[in-house]
Amino acid sequence: MVRRMRTFLASLVLIVGCAKAEAPEPRPVAHQKPQGTPAPMTLAQSGIVGDWLDRSADPCKDFYQYACGGFMKTAEIPADRSSWGAIPIVVKEAEEFEKKILEDAAAKPGNDPVSQKIGAYYAACMDETAIEKAGIAPIRPMLEQIKTVKDGASAAATIASLHSEGYFPFFGIGPVQDFADATKVIAALDQSGIGLPEKKYYLANTDTIPKTRKFYQAHQIKMFGLLGLDANAAQAAAGNAFRIETAIAKLQQDKVLRRDPHAIYHRVERAGLEKDAGGFPWGDYLAKQGIPTVTAITVNDPKYYVGIVKLLASEKPAALQDYLTWTVLRGAAPDLSKAWVDEEFTMERELNGVKELPPRWRRCVHHVDSELGELLAQSYVKVKFAGNAKVSATDLTKSVLDAMRVELDQLPWMDDATRGPAKQKLDKMAYLVGYPDKWRKYDFAIAKTDFGGNLRAATRFELARQLAKIGKPVDRFDWQMTPPTVNAYYDSSLNELVLPAGQLQPPFYGATFHPAVNFGDTGGGTVGHEMTHGFDDEGSQFDADGNLHDWWSKTTKDKFKVATKCIQDQYSKYEAVPKVHVDGKLTSGENIADNGGVKLAYEAYKTWRAKQTTPVQKEVEGLTDDQLFYLGYGQSWCMKVTPEALTTRAHSDPHSPPMWRVNGVIVNQPGFAAAFKCKAGAAMAPAKNCSVW
Ligand SMILES: [Zn+2]
Repeated sequence: MVRRMRTFLASLVLIVGCAKAEAPEPRPVAHQKPQGTPAPMTLAQSGIVGDWLDRSADPCKDFYQYACGGFMKTAEIPADRSSWGAIPIVVKEAEEFEKKILEDAAAKPGNDPVSQKIGAYYAACMDETAIEKAGIAPIRPMLEQIKTVKDGASAAATIASLHSEGYFPFFGIGPVQDFADATKVIAALDQSGIGLPEKKYYLANTDTIPKTRKFYQAHQIKMFGLLGLDANAAQAAAGNAFRIETAIAKLQQDKVLRRDPHAIYHRVERAGLEKDAGGFPWGDYLAKQGIPTVTAITVNDPKYYVGIVKLLASEKPAALQDYLTWTVLRGAAPDLSKAWVDEEFTMERELNGVKELPPRWRRCVHHVDSELGELLAQSYVKVKFAGNAKVSATDLTKSVLDAMRVELDQLPWMDDATRGPAKQKLDKMAYLVGYPDKWRKYDFAIAKTDFGGNLRAATRFELARQLAKIGKPVDRFDWQMTPPTVNAYYDSSLNELVLPAGQLQPPFYGATFHPAVNFGDTGGGTVGHEMTHGFDDEGSQFDADGNLHDWWSKTTKDKFKVATKCIQDQYSKYEAVPKVHVDGKLTSGENIADNGGVKLAYEAYKTWRAKQTTPVQKEVEGLTDDQLFYLGYGQSWCMKVTPEALTTRAHSDPHSPPMWRVNGVIVNQPGFAAAFKCKAGAAMAPAKNCSVW
């Protein structure tokens, strides 16, 4: 349940989670170099995987093929995943490591309260016999309440109750830093309540969307059937649920529009909400969420709530019951008994091409990471982020930030009026590396035999923790990802980048890798990427203090828009799968971040290299260090993805597909042609290219 809620809350806060979303044998880890006269580093030690290369390919023609052709030829996507490559490999290693921690904690919790908690939570999650026996018992209280809906008042009361349980029909609520004054935490209402990935899945008729929509409708009928409805009743209930979801989708903002912070920020206050969207008992609603006195409220779009109130009034109570029931069923199904899990999984197969349900242990590892993440992380970082890992990753981060500082001084398209605040923003940009200095507490009871009850307790605890932030000072050190997460993010309101330990692992990062590889991959793909988010088309609208405030001169902004348009047009030409194009507008922030990240990391590497008293090894098995830099970045995106997932992501994910995250970037890199001796005009060294940062 927390998983659902987090997904919802993440949409409220402008964080750009970036890497890498979900991530043969693990890539070899470099060994410590011997003392004395060092033997030359081998390719395997450098962090580049020789077998992943396709040396028969021309890097100037298709760099992705050169960096990853060997991998793509032999790699197979495991049946229980939607992709395989560098990222899933790191994810899998973290999962297996955590599994061992959790199995030990479950078997022998000892006196350590952390072990006791995570062990009991994992044991309850693994107890399939008890879960089977419980059936739909964990959601029965919600289903019973839904049956009481007979008019507007009882519908509103039920919606309020479901929100306090982490189910968000129609809309949701959470804390957000006020875009206009980032020192304040206020309440934010945001759109919610549809089961397909994006509004267009309800409305559009392009490529696979109608087929997916049909599949979803059949799935809704089957789920109502599992609840015990006969065929006709299940069809009628599913029809009501789908009709109401479609009406909600029509009112919603699409993902491209939502990239504009001005489009999703409207401080209407409680009085404005009560006036414009009257007919919904907002006072009772806020009281039920535990924040009865809150008055500072922003909404994504005032019209949306007017529309929702109208929709509520226009639907019959029985139809509303069906929609609310559906919202609970689809949210809870992955954690109920087997029949529900299996039926829910058919949607995962349809949308992401995953062929087999992941084993129970993997699902339970993810639950513990989601619901007790900072407890599980304590053992993880002790082993996986030990020694000087934090120091060396911090040094790398500083080097890339310094390169941006130099860049800001030199950028020809930026005038001095804009340069000043831009440098101020960079100077104030904070970064958190590895794991939090202080671990979060999880004060709720856990029973070793009641997974459903544990999940409910965890959800309510986290919701209350989130809403309690409203009206309090901002906590800069509250991590929005757990330390083992293979990802990173930039938060515009905090002007802060966060690099979890999970992302700073081989093959992305190794303390003994060739520095060029670390700079290319972690320096470019992670640190540079996240930092550039502060200056992409979305992040650049926030100032040094995290306020939504236009600090750009008109002339410089016009030039920035032209450069952004160039990137948008470039990526719009690419296909995710045949006939499904990348959405240049949806992905423009990520593409700007990819391009800027690699360019700045390359500058950072050259500066770092010039300062070394012991020269770095200039060549490794015939590859120069400059080539290693680009290969480090390229191989971090060696990844095979199912066509289903590529299609779904093209419609709903702000990141470009792996291949274009490499070649789309490489064609714009000023250092690449020289590194690989590409002729001017080669496919990877075009005469005309795009550059923002
Ligand atoms: Zn990103």
